[in-house]
Amino acid sequence: MPQGSIVKALSGYYYVLPEGAPLEEGNTVTCRGRGVFKNKKITPLVGDRVMYEETENGEGTVTEILPRTSELIRPPIANVNIVVLVFSVTEPVLNLQLLDKFLVHIEHTGIDVVLCFTKSDLLLEGSGDALPKEMTMSELDRITALYEAIGYPVVRTSSRRGVGVEAILHHLEGTISVFAGQSGVGKSSLLNKMIAGIDLETNEISQRLGRGKHTTRHVELLPLEGGGLVADTPGFSQLDFMEVEADGLGACFREFAAVAEGCRFRGCLHLHEPDCKVRIAAADGTIAASRYEHYLLFLAEIKDRKRRY
Ligand code: GDP
Ligand code: ZN
Repeated sequence: MPQGSIVKALSGYYYVLPEGAPLEEGNTVTCRGRGVFKNKKITPLVGDRVMYEETENGEGTVTEILPRTSELIRPPIANVNIVVLVFSVTEPVLNLQLLDKFLVHIEHTGIDVVLCFTKSDLLLEGSGDALPKEMTMSELDRITALYEAIGYPVVRTSSRRGVGVEAILHHLEGTISVFAGQSGVGKSSLLNKMIAGIDLETNEISQRLGRGKHTTRHVELLPLEGGGLVADTPGFSQLDFMEVEADGLGACFREFAAVAEGCRFRGCLHLHEPDCKVRIAAADGTIAASRYEHYLLFLAEIKDRKRRY
Protein backbone atom coordinates (compact mmCIF):
# COMPACT_ATOMS: atom_id res chain seq x y z
CA MET A 1 0.00 0.00 0.00
CA PRO A 2 1.44 3.44 -0.85
CA GLN A 3 2.68 5.76 1.86
CA GLY A 4 2.62 9.53 1.99
CA SER A 5 2.22 12.64 4.11
CA ILE A 6 -0.85 14.79 4.60
CA VAL A 7 0.05 18.30 3.50
CA LYS A 8 -3.40 19.87 3.69
CA ALA A 9 -6.73 19.12 5.34
CA LEU A 10 -9.89 20.81 4.19
CA SER A 11 -13.60 20.00 4.51
CA GLY A 12 -13.08 16.33 5.27
CA TYR A 13 -10.49 15.81 2.54
CA TYR A 14 -6.86 15.01 3.13
CA TYR A 15 -4.33 15.94 0.49
CA VAL A 16 -1.65 13.27 0.58
CA LEU A 17 1.77 13.78 -0.96
CA PRO A 18 3.20 10.39 -2.02
CA GLU A 19 6.48 9.47 -0.28
CA GLY A 20 9.44 10.96 -2.12
CA ALA A 21 7.41 13.18 -4.45
CA PRO A 22 8.21 16.90 -4.49
CA LEU A 23 5.44 19.13 -3.17
CA GLU A 24 4.22 20.64 -6.40
CA GLU A 25 0.92 21.41 -8.03
CA GLY A 26 -0.87 18.24 -9.06
CA ASN A 27 1.28 15.85 -7.03
CA THR A 28 -1.11 15.26 -4.14
CA VAL A 29 -3.78 12.58 -3.94
CA THR A 30 -7.12 13.79 -2.59
CA CYS A 31 -8.22 11.31 0.06
CA ARG A 32 -11.10 10.65 2.40
CA GLY A 33 -10.39 9.31 5.86
CA ARG A 34 -11.58 5.83 6.60
CA GLY A 35 -14.53 5.60 9.02
CA VAL A 36 -12.42 3.54 11.37
CA PHE A 37 -10.57 6.66 12.58
CA LYS A 38 -13.79 8.03 14.02
CA ASN A 39 -14.29 4.96 16.17
CA LYS A 40 -10.71 5.12 17.39
CA LYS A 41 -11.15 8.81 18.20
CA ILE A 42 -8.10 9.67 16.17
CA THR A 43 -8.26 12.24 13.44
CA PRO A 44 -5.70 12.44 10.68
CA LEU A 45 -3.69 15.64 11.00
CA VAL A 46 -1.68 17.68 8.57
CA GLY A 47 1.88 16.36 8.87
CA ASP A 48 0.73 12.78 9.47
CA ARG A 49 2.56 10.05 7.65
CA VAL A 50 -0.14 7.72 6.36
CA MET A 51 -0.86 4.63 4.30
CA TYR A 52 -3.49 5.16 1.65
CA GLU A 53 -5.35 3.27 -1.05
CA GLU A 54 -6.01 4.75 -4.45
CA THR A 55 -9.56 4.50 -5.72
CA GLU A 56 -10.65 4.42 -9.39
CA ASN A 57 -11.36 8.12 -9.84
CA GLY A 58 -7.78 9.08 -8.98
CA GLU A 59 -8.74 9.87 -5.41
CA GLY A 60 -7.93 7.78 -2.38
CA THR A 61 -8.66 6.63 1.14
CA VAL A 62 -6.36 7.09 4.11
CA THR A 63 -6.22 3.65 5.72
CA GLU A 64 -3.63 4.03 8.46
CA ILE A 65 -1.89 6.76 10.42
CA LEU A 66 1.73 5.94 11.21
CA PRO A 67 3.05 6.73 14.71
CA ARG A 68 3.63 10.43 15.38
CA THR A 69 6.83 11.93 16.72
CA SER A 70 5.00 15.02 17.97
CA GLU A 71 1.58 16.61 17.99
CA LEU A 72 0.77 20.30 18.18
CA ILE A 73 -2.70 21.63 18.92
CA ARG A 74 -2.29 25.19 17.66
CA PRO A 75 -1.91 24.85 14.72
CA PRO A 76 -3.04 21.22 14.56
CA ILE A 77 -0.02 19.52 12.97
CA ALA A 78 1.70 16.19 13.57
CA ASN A 79 5.40 15.37 13.27
CA VAL A 80 6.68 18.93 13.55
CA ASN A 81 10.48 18.79 14.07
CA ILE A 82 11.21 22.46 14.67
CA VAL A 83 9.36 25.40 16.14
CA VAL A 84 10.83 28.71 15.01
CA LEU A 85 10.18 30.86 18.05
CA VAL A 86 9.90 34.43 16.85
CA PHE A 87 10.47 37.55 18.95
CA SER A 88 11.06 41.04 17.60
CA VAL A 89 13.96 43.02 19.06
CA THR A 90 11.39 45.78 19.60
CA GLU A 91 7.82 46.69 18.55
CA PRO A 92 6.61 44.77 20.48
CA VAL A 93 9.35 45.02 23.07
CA LEU A 94 11.38 41.83 23.67
CA ASN A 95 9.95 40.16 26.76
CA LEU A 96 12.33 37.49 28.10
CA GLN A 97 9.78 36.17 30.57
CA LEU A 98 7.39 35.41 27.73
CA LEU A 99 10.25 33.97 25.71
CA ASP A 100 11.12 31.56 28.52
CA LYS A 101 7.45 30.67 28.86
CA PHE A 102 7.24 29.71 25.19
CA LEU A 103 10.44 27.71 25.55
CA VAL A 104 8.98 25.72 28.45
CA HIS A 105 5.93 24.92 26.39
CA ILE A 106 7.97 23.81 23.38
CA GLU A 107 10.46 21.80 25.47
CA HIS A 108 7.45 20.02 26.95
CA THR A 109 6.35 18.89 23.47
CA GLY A 110 9.83 17.53 22.78
CA ILE A 111 10.18 19.54 19.57
CA ASP A 112 13.43 21.36 18.69
CA VAL A 113 13.59 25.16 18.74
CA VAL A 114 15.26 27.79 16.61
CA LEU A 115 15.13 31.24 18.19
CA CYS A 116 14.56 34.03 15.75
CA PHE A 117 14.98 37.72 16.62
CA THR A 118 13.23 39.81 13.97
CA LYS A 119 13.25 43.50 12.99
CA SER A 120 17.02 43.76 13.46
CA ASP A 121 16.82 46.91 11.31
CA LEU A 122 15.32 48.63 14.38
CA LEU A 123 18.37 47.91 16.57
CA LEU A 124 20.30 50.88 17.92
CA GLU A 125 24.00 50.87 17.17
CA GLY A 126 26.46 50.46 20.00
CA SER A 127 25.75 50.21 23.69
CA GLY A 128 24.57 53.72 24.53
CA ASP A 129 21.56 54.39 26.73
CA ALA A 130 18.44 53.05 25.13
CA LEU A 131 14.92 54.08 25.91
CA PRO A 132 13.02 51.24 27.62
CA LYS A 133 11.27 50.47 24.35
CA GLU A 134 14.48 50.22 22.38
CA MET A 135 17.14 47.58 22.08
CA THR A 136 20.82 48.12 21.47
CA MET A 137 23.12 45.88 19.48
CA SER A 138 25.15 44.99 22.58
CA GLU A 139 22.06 44.11 24.61
CA LEU A 140 20.88 41.76 21.87
CA ASP A 141 24.39 40.25 21.70
CA ARG A 142 24.16 39.53 25.43
CA ILE A 143 20.74 37.88 25.07
CA THR A 144 21.91 35.89 22.04
CA ALA A 145 24.94 34.60 23.96
CA LEU A 146 22.72 33.58 26.88
CA TYR A 147 20.45 31.40 24.74
CA GLU A 148 23.23 30.02 22.55
CA ALA A 149 25.05 28.90 25.69
CA ILE A 150 21.94 26.94 26.68
CA GLY A 151 22.03 25.26 23.27
CA TYR A 152 19.42 27.08 21.22
CA PRO A 153 20.36 28.17 17.70
CA VAL A 154 19.71 31.91 17.36
CA VAL A 155 19.09 33.74 14.08
CA ARG A 156 18.65 37.49 13.61
CA THR A 157 16.46 38.63 10.76
CA SER A 158 15.06 41.70 9.11
CA SER A 159 12.30 41.13 6.61
CA ARG A 160 12.51 44.79 5.74
CA ARG A 161 16.15 44.45 4.69
CA GLY A 162 16.04 40.80 3.62
CA VAL A 163 18.56 39.77 6.30
CA GLY A 164 18.81 36.30 7.84
CA VAL A 165 16.32 34.56 5.57
CA GLU A 166 18.97 32.16 4.21
CA ALA A 167 20.09 31.30 7.73
CA ILE A 168 16.56 30.35 8.77
CA LEU A 169 16.07 28.27 5.61
CA HIS A 170 19.30 26.46 6.37
CA HIS A 171 18.07 25.43 9.81
CA LEU A 172 14.81 24.13 8.35
CA GLU A 173 16.22 21.96 5.56
CA GLY A 174 14.46 18.60 5.51
CA THR A 175 12.21 19.35 8.49
CA ILE A 176 8.57 20.10 9.18
CA SER A 177 8.43 23.45 10.94
CA VAL A 178 6.00 25.88 12.49
CA PHE A 179 6.47 29.55 13.31
CA ALA A 180 5.26 30.71 16.72
CA GLY A 181 5.26 33.97 18.62
CA GLN A 182 3.21 36.94 19.72
CA SER A 183 1.12 38.81 17.23
CA GLY A 184 2.99 41.60 15.44
CA VAL A 185 6.54 40.25 15.78
CA GLY A 186 6.81 39.72 12.03
CA LYS A 187 6.08 36.02 11.48
CA SER A 188 3.97 36.48 8.36
CA SER A 189 6.40 39.01 6.88
CA LEU A 190 9.24 36.51 7.37
CA LEU A 191 7.30 33.59 5.89
CA ASN A 192 6.50 35.74 2.88
CA LYS A 193 10.24 36.29 2.37
CA MET A 194 11.02 32.60 2.76
CA ILE A 195 8.49 31.06 0.41
CA ALA A 196 8.32 31.97 -3.23
CA GLY A 197 4.88 32.83 -4.46
CA ILE A 198 3.02 33.19 -1.17
CA ASP A 199 1.47 36.29 0.22
CA LEU A 200 0.32 35.84 3.80
CA GLU A 201 -1.69 38.64 5.28
CA THR A 202 0.48 40.87 7.47
CA ASN A 203 -0.80 43.26 10.08
CA GLU A 204 -0.96 46.43 8.05
CA ILE A 205 -2.96 44.69 5.32
CA SER A 206 -5.55 43.22 7.67
CA GLN A 207 -5.92 46.64 9.28
CA ARG A 208 -6.45 48.25 5.92
CA LEU A 209 -9.11 45.71 5.02
CA GLY A 210 -10.70 46.25 8.41
CA ARG A 211 -10.82 42.62 9.43
CA GLY A 212 -9.16 40.55 12.09
CA LYS A 213 -6.15 38.46 11.24
CA HIS A 214 -7.25 35.41 13.12
CA THR A 215 -10.09 34.16 10.99
CA THR A 216 -10.24 30.38 11.12
CA ARG A 217 -8.83 28.79 8.07
CA HIS A 218 -7.27 25.55 6.97
CA VAL A 219 -3.70 24.58 7.74
CA GLU A 220 -1.37 23.74 4.94
CA LEU A 221 2.26 22.72 4.65
CA LEU A 222 4.25 24.65 2.07
CA PRO A 223 7.53 23.58 0.47
CA LEU A 224 10.74 25.39 1.37
CA GLU A 225 13.54 25.98 -1.04
CA GLY A 226 16.25 23.45 -0.25
CA GLY A 227 13.73 20.96 1.14
CA GLY A 228 11.50 21.01 4.16
CA LEU A 229 7.90 21.88 4.81
CA VAL A 230 6.58 24.82 6.79
CA ALA A 231 3.08 25.46 8.14
CA ASP A 232 1.45 28.46 6.51
CA THR A 233 -0.33 29.24 9.80
CA PRO A 234 1.78 30.56 12.67
CA GLY A 235 1.28 28.75 15.96
CA PHE A 236 0.26 29.61 19.48
CA SER A 237 0.60 33.21 20.47
CA GLN A 238 -0.04 33.03 24.19
CA LEU A 239 0.19 30.10 26.50
CA ASP A 240 -0.71 28.69 29.79
CA PHE A 241 0.84 25.80 31.63
CA MET A 242 -2.10 23.48 31.81
CA GLU A 243 -0.01 20.47 30.84
CA VAL A 244 3.25 21.13 32.69
CA GLU A 245 3.38 19.87 36.27
CA ALA A 246 5.50 21.43 38.99
CA ASP A 247 7.86 18.45 39.12
CA GLY A 248 8.30 18.53 35.34
CA LEU A 249 9.08 22.23 35.04
CA GLY A 250 12.81 21.96 35.78
CA ALA A 251 13.27 19.54 32.90
CA CYS A 252 11.89 22.20 30.54
CA PHE A 253 14.84 24.46 31.45
CA ARG A 254 17.56 22.69 29.47
CA GLU A 255 20.54 24.07 31.32
CA PHE A 256 19.12 23.00 34.70
CA ALA A 257 19.25 19.32 33.73
CA ALA A 258 23.02 18.91 33.93
CA VAL A 259 23.35 20.46 37.41
CA ALA A 260 20.07 19.07 38.80
CA GLU A 261 21.63 15.60 38.74
CA GLY A 262 23.63 16.72 41.75
CA CYS A 263 20.67 17.92 43.84
CA ARG A 264 20.42 16.04 47.11
CA PHE A 265 16.75 15.13 46.70
CA ARG A 266 15.11 13.32 43.82
CA GLY A 267 12.25 15.49 42.63
CA CYS A 268 13.99 18.60 43.99
CA LEU A 269 11.94 21.65 43.00
CA HIS A 270 15.05 23.86 43.26
CA LEU A 271 13.38 26.14 45.76
CA HIS A 272 14.70 26.00 49.31
CA GLU A 273 15.94 22.42 49.43
CA PRO A 274 19.35 21.98 51.05
CA ASP A 275 22.19 21.20 48.62
CA CYS A 276 20.15 22.26 45.62
CA LYS A 277 22.73 22.54 42.85
CA VAL A 278 20.41 24.59 40.61
CA ARG A 279 19.99 27.27 43.27
CA ILE A 280 23.77 27.32 43.81
CA ALA A 281 24.39 27.61 40.05
CA ALA A 282 21.90 30.48 39.83
CA ALA A 283 23.64 32.25 42.73
CA ASP A 284 27.14 31.94 41.21
CA GLY A 285 25.97 32.93 37.71
CA THR A 286 26.44 29.55 36.00
CA ILE A 287 22.69 29.66 35.41
CA ALA A 288 21.45 33.09 34.26
CA ALA A 289 19.58 35.02 36.97
CA SER A 290 16.73 35.76 34.57
CA ARG A 291 16.20 32.08 33.80
CA TYR A 292 16.08 31.04 37.45
CA GLU A 293 13.79 33.96 38.27
CA HIS A 294 11.39 32.92 35.50
CA TYR A 295 11.51 29.32 36.68
CA LEU A 296 10.39 30.45 40.15
CA LEU A 297 7.61 32.57 38.67
CA PHE A 298 6.28 29.75 36.51
CA LEU A 299 6.47 27.32 39.41
CA ALA A 300 4.36 29.68 41.49
CA GLU A 301 1.90 29.97 38.60
CA ILE A 302 1.56 26.21 38.32
CA LYS A 303 1.01 25.84 42.07
CA ASP A 304 -1.53 28.65 42.06
CA ARG A 305 -3.40 27.00 39.22
CA LYS A 306 -3.54 23.74 41.19
CA ARG A 307 -5.09 25.57 44.11
CA ARG A 308 -7.82 27.04 41.97
CA TYR A 309 -8.96 23.89 40.19
P1 GDP B 1 2.89 38.67 12.70
O1 GDP B 1 1.65 39.10 13.43
O2 GDP B 1 3.88 38.05 13.64
O3 GDP B 1 2.63 37.79 11.54
O4 GDP B 1 3.60 40.00 12.17
P2 GDP B 1 3.52 40.69 10.72
O5 GDP B 1 4.38 39.96 9.75
O6 GDP B 1 2.09 40.89 10.37
O7 GDP B 1 4.25 42.09 11.02
C1 GDP B 1 3.78 43.00 11.99
C2 GDP B 1 4.30 44.40 11.70
O8 GDP B 1 5.71 44.43 11.81
C3 GDP B 1 3.97 44.88 10.31
O9 GDP B 1 3.63 46.24 10.38
C4 GDP B 1 5.25 44.68 9.55
O10 GDP B 1 5.44 45.60 8.48
C5 GDP B 1 6.29 44.94 10.63
N1 GDP B 1 7.54 44.21 10.34
C6 GDP B 1 7.65 42.91 9.99
N2 GDP B 1 8.95 42.57 9.78
C7 GDP B 1 9.67 43.69 9.99
C8 GDP B 1 11.09 43.99 9.93
O11 GDP B 1 11.94 43.16 9.64
N3 GDP B 1 11.45 45.27 10.26
C9 GDP B 1 10.54 46.23 10.61
N4 GDP B 1 11.01 47.44 10.90
N5 GDP B 1 9.22 45.98 10.66
C10 GDP B 1 8.78 44.73 10.36
ZN1 ZN C 1 17.51 21.34 43.13
